[in-house]
Amino acid sequence: MPRASRLVAGTVLLAVAAIVGCGPLPFAATVSGPDETATALGATGYKAFFGIQHTHVAENGDDGQGTLAEAYAYAQNKAKLDFLGISSHSHMITDAGYAKMKLAAQQVTQPGEFVALLAQEWSSISKGGHINIFEANERCPVPNGDWATFYTNWLPAHPEVAWAQFNHPHPTNKLEFGGEAFSPVAPGPAAVSALSTFSAMALLNGPGKYEGDDMRGQPDEWDRGANGLNYEEEYKEFLNRGWRIGAVGDQDNHVKNWGLASPTRTGVWATSLTKTNLIAAFKARRTYATFDPNLAFWFSLDGKPMGSEIKTGKEIAVAIQAKDPDTVFTRIELYGDTDGMGGRPASLIKKVAVGKKSATWSFKIPAPTEEGYYFAKLVYGDGTAWAWTSPIWVSR
Ligand SMILES: [Zn+2]
Ligand SMILES: [Zn+2]
Repeated sequence: MPRASRLVAGTVLLAVAAIVGCGPLPFAATVSGPDETATALGATGYKAFFGIQHTHVAENGDDGQGTLAEAYAYAQNKAKLDFLGISSHSHMITDAGYAKMKLAAQQVTQPGEFVALLAQEWSSISKGGHINIFEANERCPVPNGDWATFYTNWLPAHPEVAWAQFNHPHPTNKLEFGGEAFSPVAPGPAAVSALSTFSAMALLNGPGKYEGDDMRGQPDEWDRGANGLNYEEEYKEFLNRGWRIGAVGDQDNHVKNWGLASPTRTGVWATSLTKTNLIAAFKARRTYATFDPNLAFWFSLDGKPMGSEIKTGKEIAVAIQAKDPDTVFTRIELYGDTDGMGGRPASLIKKVAVGKKSATWSFKIPAPTEEGYYFAKLVYGDGTAWAWTSPIWVSR
C-alpha cells in the first residue's frame, strides 16, 4: 500500500483522532525518495539525528575505558550515531586533559557526517547529583557540591556554555541539583541564569557498566527511578518545579560500547548535521528521549515544535506523529500540567492505541486558564519501552 494510504488507514483506526490542520510536520526530510504522506502533511525541513551526550573514557583520568579517539570512532562507525558527547568527570581530569578533549572534539567533527560534543560531568552523586555542561571553554573548577558558586559565579561568567543537562535525577535528595534554593521556584539572579542554561534532563540513563555491545542492557538499579523503570516521575517533578528542560536519553557508558549498551538515544530535530544546528536544537529543546534507536517522534502545539514556548487562544491544536522502520507502537499518550509550576505535576490527558509502525494523531484540547505545559509519550513493544518528547509550554 502506498505510504499515504497506509497512514490514512492508520489514522482512521485511531478512534479518537480527528484530523485538523495542525501546522507542518517534519517527516519529508526523514525519508529518502518520494514521500506522498509527507507532502500531504507538509514539511518543516527538520530531520531526526540520533546520539547520546553522556559517556566516559579512561583518558585523562576519567573512570571509563578506552581513549577519546576510540570512543568517537566506535560511536560513528560501529554504533552509527550521528553525534556523541564524551563527558569526563571534571574533578578527575586536569585542565590539560580538558584541552585535549576540546581538540579531539574539533578534529573528529565533520559536518554532515558526525558531530563530537565537548562535555564534562560536574559534581558528585553524594553532593547534589551530576550535571553535564556542554561546550565550556574551560574545565569547571568549582568543587563538587558547591552549587552556590556554580550557579551564582561560574555559570554567569561562562556565556559560551551551549547548554547544560541534569543527569540521573533523584529529587528525594533535597539537595539534588542545588535544591530549591536555586530552582525556578525561588527566582533570583542565579536561578534565572540556570533556567536559561539548563535545557535537558535524561529520562533514560545507563546501564553504565553493561559489558555487552548488543543494545540489550536494561537500566540498572540506579537508573530505574521512582517507578522502577525510568526517570519519568523525576522528570515530572523537576518540570513542576519550573525547570524548562527537554527530554533526552543517555547510556553513561563506562565500558567500550559507546552507543551500543542499550537502544537508548536522544533524538534531535535539526535542519542538518552540523555542530551549530545540533547546539541550536538542544537549546531549543527540539529533542526526545527514546529507547528505540531509530524512532522518529514529533510533537507540536499550534504548529510549534517540542521545546517551544507559545501563546495560545482558548483551544490548542495538538499534533503527534511517530514513525519507526521496525517497531510496532502500542500506544501514544499526551501528558499535561494545566496549573503550571507548583501544584499538581503533569498527568495523563489522553491516550490512543496504535498497533502500527507509524501513526499521526491530531486533535484539539482546551487551553489552560493561565499557563501549563504538555509532552507526548510513546509506549511500544511489550510496554517496557518508551519515548518522551520535550514539553511545549503554553500561556494564554
Ligand atoms: Zn553521573
Ligand atoms: Zn557519567
